[in-house]
Amino acid sequence: MEKYSFTNLAKHALAGHKNWKPLWRSPEPKKSYDVVIVGAGGQGLATAYYLAKNHGITNVAVIDKGWLGGGNTGRNTSMVRSNYFYEESSNFYDHSLKLYEQLGNELNYNVMLSQGGVMLLGHSAVEMQLIERAANSLLLQGVDSEMLTPEQVKEREPVIDLNPNGRYPIQGGFVQKRGGVARHDAVAWGYARRASDMGVDIIQDCPITNILTDSNNKAIGVETAKFGVIKADKVVSCVAGLSSTIADMAGFDLPIKSQTLQAMVSEPIKPVMHGCVGSGPVHCYVSQSDRGEILVGGTADFYPSFGQRGNINPTEHTLAAMCEIFPLFSRLKLMRQWAGIVDISPDSTPIIGLTPVKDMYISTGWGTGGFKGIPAGGETLAYTVANNKPHHLVEKFDLGRFARGEMIDEAAAAGIPH
Ligand SMILES: Cc1cc2nc3c(=O)[nH]c(=O)nc-3n(C[C@H](O)[C@H](O)[C@H](O)COP(=O)(O)OP(=O)(O)OC[C@H]3O[C@@H](n4cnc5c(N)ncnc54)[C@H](O)[C@@H]3O)c2cc1C
Repeated sequence: MEKYSFTNLAKHALAGHKNWKPLWRSPEPKKSYDVVIVGAGGQGLATAYYLAKNHGITNVAVIDKGWLGGGNTGRNTSMVRSNYFYEESSNFYDHSLKLYEQLGNELNYNVMLSQGGVMLLGHSAVEMQLIERAANSLLLQGVDSEMLTPEQVKEREPVIDLNPNGRYPIQGGFVQKRGGVARHDAVAWGYARRASDMGVDIIQDCPITNILTDSNNKAIGVETAKFGVIKADKVVSCVAGLSSTIADMAGFDLPIKSQTLQAMVSEPIKPVMHGCVGSGPVHCYVSQSDRGEILVGGTADFYPSFGQRGNINPTEHTLAAMCEIFPLFSRLKLMRQWAGIVDISPDSTPIIGLTPVKDMYISTGWGTGGFKGIPAGGETLAYTVANNKPHHLVEKFDLGRFARGEMIDEAAAAGIPH
C-alpha cells in the first residue's frame, strides 16, 4: 500500500500525476472462488471487506458489469443518519452511523464524514405532532434527536424562508445532529482498496449473465459475459435496482420495484448551509457540497423503470419544492442532473439475508437510502454469508417477512428524508 504523505503528494504533482499506484488490483478472475459477489457498489465492496477482515474469507471476487461505484453508490446525495422510526431500523442504522464515525480510521482513507446535522421540517400542527412522535420514539431508542422551533430552524439554516404567508409556512422541525454527509466515491474506493489488499479480486466491466444452480437448487457459480463460467461455493447479489433481474436468473421472485431517482446540483456558491434540510410534504431535500454547489434531491420518477437519466417533470417538481423553502436559491443556475435505479421494497426496509436458493444471499430493497447503510449492510451480510444464518441486527430484514406479514414500514422515514 502506498504511504500517504506530503512528500509523496509533492512527488506525484511534480511528475504530472502520471505515476499514481492504482488503489486496487485488477486481476484476471480465477476459475473458482469461495464467494462471488455480484455488484461492486458500496454494499458489495463492504461485504467483501468484512468477509476478509472479520471472517478470514479472502478467496472472494466482486464482479461488476460497469465500473466500481458506478451505480447508485456514485450517484447518491451522500446523506447519513439513523433517525428511523422502528427499533429494528434505528438499531441497524445507528450501528451503521457509528461505523461511519470511525470509517476513515478503519479504512485508512478519508471518507470526508461531515456531521453538520440532518433537519426535517414540519409545516402544520399535524405534521409537528408526527415529528414529535418520531423524535420521542428515537429518544427512547437512544438515538439523538431534537425538536426545533421555527426560530431554531432559522438559527441553524439562516437561508430558510420563515415567511408565515408562504404556501408551506414552517412550524418547526427536528434535527439529528450526528447526521450529515460522507463522500460517496471515497467510501467505495476505501472499501475496495482494503478488500483488494486482503486478497479480494475486483473484476470490472464484466456483466453477470446467469446464476448457476445444481439439481438441489444450490448456487454453484455465475456465468459472465467476458470470462464464461466462474464457479463459487456461495453467490451474493448486491445489485440494487437490478436485483429482480439477478433473482430471475436464479429462479425466484423479489418484491422489488425499480424506479429512477434523480439528484442535481447548482453552480457553486460561498458556504451558506450548515447541514442537510428535508421536507416530506414540500418534497425535496437540500445540502451544500464541499465544492459549494447546492445539492438537491426529491421525488423518484413516477413509474417503474431501469432508466438512469430521469424525466423532466420530477426535476421540475423537485426544483419548485426547493424554491418554496429557499426562495433565494431560485436565482441559481442548475449545473448538472443525474439519476440512479433505486430498489424499493414494499415496506421501504432493506432485504438482507438468505434466499430460496441454497448458498445464495441477497442485499436489496435499499431504495433511496442505502448509502448510509453501507458499513452495517456489509458487516451484517458478511456475517450472514460466513455463518449461513442472519446476523442478529438483520434477522427481521429477511425476505420471508412479506409472506409472514411482518413488515417494518419505514415509508415515512425513507423517501424524502433519504
Ligand atoms: C439520486 C440518488 C440519491 C440518493 N441519496 C441517498 C442519500 O442521500 N443517502 C442514502 O443513504 N442513500 C441514498 N441513495 C441510495 C443509495 O445510493 C443506494 O441505496 C446505495 O448506493 C446502494 O448501494 P448498492 O451497493 O446496493 O448498489 P449500487 O451502488 O447501485 O451497486 C450495484 C452494482 O451492481 C452492478 N450490477 C447490476 N447488475 C449487474 C450484473 N448483471 N452483473 C454485474 N454487475 C451488475 C451495477 O453496475 C452496480 O455497480 C440515493 C440514490 C440515488 C439514485
